[in-house]
Amino acid sequence: MIRRQVSAALCSARLQAGMWRTPKCPPEGGRYNAQNGVPAPTLPARSFLRAALFACIVLVAALSSPAPARAWGCQAHQMIALLAEKHLTPHALATVQEILSSNPIDPGMKRICKDRSLDAMADSSTWADDIRAERPETSLWHYINIRFGATLRGAGKNVDEVVDQFCDPQESCLTRATAEQFAILRATETDPRKKADALRFVIHFVGDLHQPLHNSTNNDQGGNCVPVNYFGVLPQLRNPRTETYLPNLHAIWDYDILARATTGKSTEQDAADMDQSYRRKIAAWQKGPADFDAWSWESYQLAWKIVYGKLPVRIPVEVPQAVKSCADNNHVSERMLRLNERIGEPYQKLAVPAIRERLAQAGARLAMLLNELWP
Ligand SMILES: [Zn+2]
Repeated sequence: MIRRQVSAALCSARLQAGMWRTPKCPPEGGRYNAQNGVPAPTLPARSFLRAALFACIVLVAALSSPAPARAWGCQAHQMIALLAEKHLTPHALATVQEILSSNPIDPGMKRICKDRSLDAMADSSTWADDIRAERPETSLWHYINIRFGATLRGAGKNVDEVVDQFCDPQESCLTRATAEQFAILRATETDPRKKADALRFVIHFVGDLHQPLHNSTNNDQGGNCVPVNYFGVLPQLRNPRTETYLPNLHAIWDYDILARATTGKSTEQDAADMDQSYRRKIAAWQKGPADFDAWSWESYQLAWKIVYGKLPVRIPVEVPQAVKSCADNNHVSERMLRLNERIGEPYQKLAVPAIRERLAQAGARLAMLLNELWP
C-alpha cells in the first residue's frame, strides 16, 4: 500500500514538473479503486524495505517542495505558442525569431520543461516559470486573485476598474505585469536583452491570463488548496507545513485534464488539431480588442461557472481573507479534503472543451498582439 501511494505521489510530482509523458506515469486510473477510493491490496512483506526507501524520498521532497504551482503546464504553454505562430504575419514571425535567437535562453539555466525539440517561440513559452528561482519578485506576475463574489454591479463599474481592485499596487499582478512587459516590447529604445525577456514574458502571460485559476481565488490559492480525487488517485499530503495536497483542483487544470485528453499525441499535433477545430473562432477572436483585464475577467467567470460550478460537491464562497498557505483560513485544504471531491469522466468531459477553447483563444490573441507590433 505504501509503495502504491508513494508511486502516485512521485507521478504527481513528475506531472507537476511538466513531465507529461513519462512512460511510468500514465493517467493514474487504477491505482486505487475508483469507485470507493479504497486503497489497493497490501504489498508483500519482501517489498517493505524498498517501499520505506521510496517513502523517505517522497517525505524529503515534500518537506522541501516549493510554494504551490500556479502556472499552466509545459504542454499548455507550448501549444499556445505553436498555435500563435500559425497566425503571425511573416514580419511578426521573422521579428520574434530574430529577437529570440539574438538573445537565447542561458543554456546553463535549469529548465522545468524537458522537451528541447520545439522551436524557439514554443521553448520560450515556459521560460517565465524557470526564471522565478532567479527573480522571485516575478512569481506574483503569474496570477491575479479576483475573489469569488466579485461582480460588475454598481454604478460606473467596468471590467478594468473591478479587475484592478485585485491587483496590489505594491506587488503587481498578472494583468499589470502583462501590460508592463508589452509596453517594454513595444518601446523602440528597449535594450535587446530586456526586449527578449519582455517577449518571453508576454508569450507566457497571455497563456496565464486564459487559465481560470490564475485569475480567481476562493481563499484557496486559486484551487491549490482544494484536494481532489482524480480518476481514483487519492489526494496525498505533499507538504505538511503548508498542508498542500496533490492532486488538487489547480494542478489538474494546469496539467492532468489536458494530459489525459491528449495522451499519445505530440504537442505539435495537438496545436495543429486545435487550429483546425477553432479556425473560424480564431478569426473572430483576432478582431480584438486586446484587453488584458477583460481576458482575466473571462477566466474568472469560467472558474465560477465550470471549474468550481461543476464540481461534484458544491464549495461555498469563503469570507475573503489573506491566505499565504493552505494551512491558513482555518486549515482550508483540510476542510476541502473532507468534501471528498471525486473528479471522473463527467467533470473531465466538461473541462476538456473549456480548456481547449481557452488555449485556442490565448494562441489567437497572442498572435494578434504580436501582429499589432509587427504588421
Ligand atoms: Zn505562469
